[in-house]
Amino acid sequence: MWHILGAGSLGTLWATRLARAGVPVELLLRDSARLHSYQQAGGLTLIEQDQAQHYPIAAQTVADTQPIKRLLLACKAYDAAPAVAQLAHRLAPGADILLLQNGLGSQDEVARAAPQARCIFASSTDGAFRQADFQVVFAGHGHTWLGDPQNIQPPAWLADLHKAGIAHDWSLDILSRLWRKLALNCAINPLTVLHDCRNGELREHPAQLACLSSELVELLQHCGHSHAAEGLHEDVLRVIQATALNYSSMHQDVRQGRRTEIAYLLGYACQAAQRHQLPLPHLYALHAQLLAHLSSRGLPSH
Ligand code: NAP
Repeated sequence: MWHILGAGSLGTLWATRLARAGVPVELLLRDSARLHSYQQAGGLTLIEQDQAQHYPIAAQTVADTQPIKRLLLACKAYDAAPAVAQLAHRLAPGADILLLQNGLGSQDEVARAAPQARCIFASSTDGAFRQADFQVVFAGHGHTWLGDPQNIQPPAWLADLHKAGIAHDWSLDILSRLWRKLALNCAINPLTVLHDCRNGELREHPAQLACLSSELVELLQHCGHSHAAEGLHEDVLRVIQATALNYSSMHQDVRQGRRTEIAYLLGYACQAAQRHQLPLPHLYALHAQLLAHLSSRGLPSH
């Protein structure tokens, strides 16, 4: 049985794909009001290539008492540790928690909140967004890398992902993958917010991109992830080109007045740089400008 916390974009994407492959799934919703809305909706809807498919998946609240052996955590990074703390007493000995959060920092917070569980980190390039409550559009078929920095043995339940058609690989160096994705995010997303532009328009700011990329390379090398630093600048330019017409996730969050995951992205990078006493002036300045921008829009800095 998979317990899935968060019936948002990625939670719905995973729950529906597992359920339609016949894998038992139970959703965990925040409270009885949310459960009531879910029951009114009668299930989750996944929209793929304009085709909507409805899945009446079982749901309960986090306050339920059923033991949990496998938890898929599909909330935002800032909600991850508080959500797991709420569920800690339900986690069976040796339970697995699969963490879908973007960025870094929330994984350690979750591990501290549930020391009895095995934490498996994931980095996903799937793209999904909520069209309405409990209705999610699968916008981009990507790939998910999973790994456990403390134990290289893959869990047996990867077979469920295979059965469900969830494209994935077991990674022996998931931290490097997460760092690389974080570095790409730090070079691109904050600038799209500050210049209020699509990814492609960043091509008009080549000097800024070059300075940030070179400082991020230095950071990755000092943090022991030299492999993740290779060809970063070229990759930043490639991503900008490939996603030229898109608005970054951070840009979308800010435009819609939603809290961002800054503390687990650029904030995490700056903290790591400070720990290593690295003078990375462009990265620190970018962080300060982004914090000021968020604050001017009444959005939290964490
Ligand atoms: P999302 O659509 O905002 O969904 C998050 C869900 O978590 C919401 O349904 C929310 O419930 C639920 N939640 C939060 N705290 C909870 C709690 N204590 N108990 C129960 N439910 C709780 O977020 P998302 O886009 O799926 O993103 C999840 C993570 O995946 C993020 O770190 C994101 O960066 C990463 N990611 C997303 C994508 C994507 O395409 N969406 C791609 C790659 C990575 P309510 O509905 O009640 O608020």
